[in-house]
Amino acid sequence: MKTCSKCKVTKPKAEFSKRLDGLQPKCKACANAWRAAHYLEHRETILASAAAYYIENKVEIDAAHSAYRAAHAEEKAAYNTAYYFTNRERIRTQQALYGAGYCSENPEKYAAQSAKRRAAKLQANPAWADPDAITLIYADCAFMNGVTDVRHEVDHIVPLISKHVSGLNVEFNLRVTPEKTNRSKGNRHWPGQEWIMRSPG
Ligand SMILES: [Zn+2]
Repeated sequence: MKTCSKCKVTKPKAEFSKRLDGLQPKCKACANAWRAAHYLEHRETILASAAAYYIENKVEIDAAHSAYRAAHAEEKAAYNTAYYFTNRERIRTQQALYGAGYCSENPEKYAAQSAKRRAAKLQANPAWADPDAITLIYADCAFMNGVTDVRHEVDHIVPLISKHVSGLNVEFNLRVTPEKTNRSKGNRHWPGQEWIMRSPG
């Protein structure tokens, strides 16, 4: 057991991330809350740094993503097929709306609404969520897709469905990540992330 330096709650050691000389002082929940708040507060700096980092390291980053996509092509195709058959009705409705121009004119609003519909089934939309903050994060994602060749997605930091806990569809639980990290929860890091998170202000 270990006591978190932030929330002061004594929790099992598995609730703390490891670091070289032992465990992090803050529990995972507090560390995630800090990262999410840090993102919202410094999002312009973080996005600008991420875009600059990408441009500077484009060759290596693109090569790493191509290699990853090639190595996981079959897995991804199977995932897409299963996803399509599970969500056929909704995908067709979306395509019809897209044809009518609604989604293409308001892509970030539409993406935010889609996430809200998914979360509604899991009762994960708290009344205190800020819809404007959520839409802003989807706009950030669209920005990153515009300035880089790597597809970015909005990720629930604590997943809506996971083994032990369920995340909420709320601005503090959302962040923009390259597609690769969103699909494999084991890999939470991408080039430049550490550097961006550690940079002052
Ligand atoms: Zn804590």
